[in-house]
Amino acid sequence: MPPADKNRTKFLLDEKDIPTQWYNIQADLKSPLPPVLHPGTGKPIGPQDLAPLFPMELIKQEVSQERWIEIPEEVRDVLRLWRPSPLFRARRLEKALGTPAHIYYKYEGVSPAGSHKPNTAVAQVYYNKKEKVTRISTETGAGQWGSALSMACNFFGLQCKVYMVKVSYQQKPYRRIMMETWGAQVVASPSSDTQAGKKVLAEDPNSPGSLGIAISEAVEDAATREDTKYSLGSVLNHVLTHQTVIGLEAKKQLEKADDEADIIVGCAGGGSNFAGLAFPFAADKLSGKKKKVRIVAVEPSACPSLTKGKYVYDFGDTVGLTPLVKMHTLGHGFIPAPLHAGGLRYHGMAPLVCKLYADGVIEAVAVPQIATFQAALQFAKSEGIIPAPESAHAIRVVIDEALACKKAGKRKTILFNLSGHGHFDLGAYEAFLAGKLQDYEYPAEKIAEALRGVPEVKA
Ligand SMILES: *Cc1c(COP(=O)(O)O)cnc(C)c1O
Repeated sequence: MPPADKNRTKFLLDEKDIPTQWYNIQADLKSPLPPVLHPGTGKPIGPQDLAPLFPMELIKQEVSQERWIEIPEEVRDVLRLWRPSPLFRARRLEKALGTPAHIYYKYEGVSPAGSHKPNTAVAQVYYNKKEKVTRISTETGAGQWGSALSMACNFFGLQCKVYMVKVSYQQKPYRRIMMETWGAQVVASPSSDTQAGKKVLAEDPNSPGSLGIAISEAVEDAATREDTKYSLGSVLNHVLTHQTVIGLEAKKQLEKADDEADIIVGCAGGGSNFAGLAFPFAADKLSGKKKKVRIVAVEPSACPSLTKGKYVYDFGDTVGLTPLVKMHTLGHGFIPAPLHAGGLRYHGMAPLVCKLYADGVIEAVAVPQIATFQAALQFAKSEGIIPAPESAHAIRVVIDEALACKKAGKRKTILFNLSGHGHFDLGAYEAFLAGKLQDYEYPAEKIAEALRGVPEVKA
């Protein structure tokens, strides 16, 4: 590599360097993932149980033990619109901190929807189309996932129905307009379009909705229509696998920078952007090739599923309709405080991320909201990009690690995933700048109560 390359700020790849295969970490686990259980029988579920909701190819990927899964050309063709995403060396942030550490970030905010989520949305819609599905239903909270899926459905000519949590629908119209621009049908949830929604409305016509209710509506929609399947933006194995294009590209880019990561950091809501960056590096740790690399998942202190949850079987949704999965959970009935990082308000965590945590391959840290926004501001002021509040959780830990390097006089290389920009989250920045943001206490009581509601499953 010519020395000039090392001194760059952006490390870019060519379109031909977009990975041709996804990395499936299931092939390299020390022991297999615990089975997913049927909520009624308590027995492991099979492909047929999931067939009403997902296309068969995605069900296969969910349980695949193959290390590499071919990325279809049609999928790569769409990914080309924003991939390979840039890897930046945060030279100005390093300088501002006065740290000897090297800080790199992989920027996923360059996708048209503004986050990493289209990486899996495009793949999921492609497989649905291939299996003759013409319509997809999903839920969305603040709208990041809904907008990614709407764009992907538009590219492949599928209809898209999005159940958007009512408070967000009313308070955050811009993501909804984005979805409608790409042709999706968006309704406020609870809606009168489903039995689940009607039931909630009958009890409380002014219900603000919740992600749990919206999931119930979207699942019912898919289960009751021949032409429709359901799509999920995080947590599931196949979603995490699709996101590994992030880490696979980052590895090549770090080579160009002639550097090697010592610490890898990502924020974790359902776990997909963290896994997408980290799993290709975790592979080297699992194989013993790079034993010392530290991999850190960052979550909000107000919703600390890895650091404070229990590793047990629980439902994926709030209502208790989904299969039972073994994961770190705060209890499916746990409703986190109204954090501005909406994408991190999930009671559980991807089973694959939990397994690596239990096996000691990755670490986890929880950070409070105000310190997170302080880090976001420091980043925006030195690097220019205004990060999504979710991504800012990773930045908090990166800055802390870089300051620890300064104190110890150590030169480490830190790599993190800047999972999205914060252009639709300026209300949160406004609150922070006005001094109106608050930290939420660790909700010990609420978590203890929700954990009592976790179903008993005999091993
Ligand atoms: C949705 C979202 C997240 C959280 O989801 P993960 O599956 O944990 O990645 C993080 N960052 C951004 C920008 C998001 O849109």
